Amino acid sequence: MQQIEQIYINGEFVTPHGDEWFDLHNPSTEQVIGRVRLGDEADTRLAIAAAKAAFPAWARTTKTERKAALTRMHQAVLAREDDLMAAIVTEYGAPSVRSRWMATYPASVIAQAIEALDAFEFEEQVGSAQVWMTPVGVAGLITPWNSDAGFICNKLATALAAGCTAVVKPSEMSAMQTQIITEALHQAGLPAGVFNIVNGRGDVVGEELTRNPDVAKISFTGSTGVGKHIVVSGAETMKRVTLELGGKSPTLLLDDADFPATIGMILQAGFMNSGQACIAGTRILVPRQRLAEFEKVAVEAIAQIKSGDPRQVDTDIGPMVSRKQWERVQGYIHQGLEEGARLLAGGPGRPEGLTRGWFVKPTLFTHANNQMRIAREEIFGPVLTILPYEDEAEAIAIANDTTYGLSAMVIGQDHQRCLAVARQIDAGRVLVNTLAHEPKAPFGGFKHSGLGREMGKWGIGAYLEPKTVMIG
Ligand code: NAD
Repeated sequence: MQQIEQIYINGEFVTPHGDEWFDLHNPSTEQVIGRVRLGDEADTRLAIAAAKAAFPAWARTTKTERKAALTRMHQAVLAREDDLMAAIVTEYGAPSVRSRWMATYPASVIAQAIEALDAFEFEEQVGSAQVWMTPVGVAGLITPWNSDAGFICNKLATALAAGCTAVVKPSEMSAMQTQIITEALHQAGLPAGVFNIVNGRGDVVGEELTRNPDVAKISFTGSTGVGKHIVVSGAETMKRVTLELGGKSPTLLLDDADFPATIGMILQAGFMNSGQACIAGTRILVPRQRLAEFEKVAVEAIAQIKSGDPRQVDTDIGPMVSRKQWERVQGYIHQGLEEGARLLAGGPGRPEGLTRGWFVKPTLFTHANNQMRIAREEIFGPVLTILPYEDEAEAIAIANDTTYGLSAMVIGQDHQRCLAVARQIDAGRVLVNTLAHEPKAPFGGFKHSGLGREMGKWGIGAYLEPKTVMIG
């Protein structure tokens, strides 16, 4: 059993004032594998005070000094890749291909921040004025469990690149990953107080960050409900906010799409990260005249997808992160059946042969419509819904008939037509015949999927205020 007893404040590992303990589970076995001691409001206030004290000096550092610090962070995190990988498999249950990516991403995203910082113009002449981009102050960085280490490193590297100092509130369910990242970042030897990491509950540590007048900015990745609450509770102290929230992304198959050639990509878009992905393509829009053909291709492909032990190399889908998440996904599968959708694959319960662990069968519904809850609400598990459409106009209308707008995919053989459809989709990102990711491009959502953008110059800009200076 691993005991994580300390948090990180002002350059030191310290025992928190908070004395609540939280159990960590292995989602593949349901066993308790560790405990983490949670910080409270008093710990959060100490961390904020440390970040506030460190801010003036850090805000004055040059680009070269910040790049040197970020480079040390990059090297230190890179050196812990294998430890991180082991923690991600044990604590989160990501299958091995995914967990390797999740273990390399934290270092690579710091490298991206260095590149973005290098190219960033902090001062610009605009007409007769100079515009100085000025760091906003202390940033509160709040992460979810579905890629905790990656989100910590992305948000922190970007905030520091901009000249802000930070208090990180990681997901309490990912304390093993957080511990490895914290140890690595400590090794990087940044000035005390520049970053602080406080394990704790969202309604305790997270709330204090969003209310505290000494925090200027919140960058939050998590559910839309909590994101909306953060906007409201941060309004009193006029917090700047960046929110990366949920999604219900459409995968739109045009009537000339080659189903056998693209089914692998279509299912991967939906089942990525065991379905626990904000960008997952969970609504598959299919031309009605080709519905039976698509269903046949999809059923054959899903039969090849394995949900089970994340340590086995041929596993595609690992367990859900927690019992609560497993029950939520099961609830939606029952809901889909009650709403009258028809199961093409999967269904309630665990995959055959598995008697424990929070495993879900890869599930595909058809005979559904876009008003059903399985088509409107974020399930956050490997459950996909086929929605038939009559013509292109209806396909675009269904794709946009959602409160979300994080990501979308368009699949078809006529490239120009795909681009014309992509222009009409309300989403922060549209993938045309690809699953590729470009970390230099802005990432974020339209509508209830978020506010603002992360990554690249857009990410750094979100931690800065433009100051217009006129010189007589
Ligand atoms: P969550 O909203 O429950 O929790 C996210 C974080 O917020 C956790 O650290 C939690 O402790 C904290 N929190 C909870 N209540 C809080 C409060 N009142 N004040 C401040 N902080 C609080 O989300 P989750 O279940 O950890 O993650 C899943 C969600 O995250 C999904 O909805 C998913 O779509 C979303 N997500 C979005 C992106 C994106 O980039 N858009 C990426 C990954 C996950």
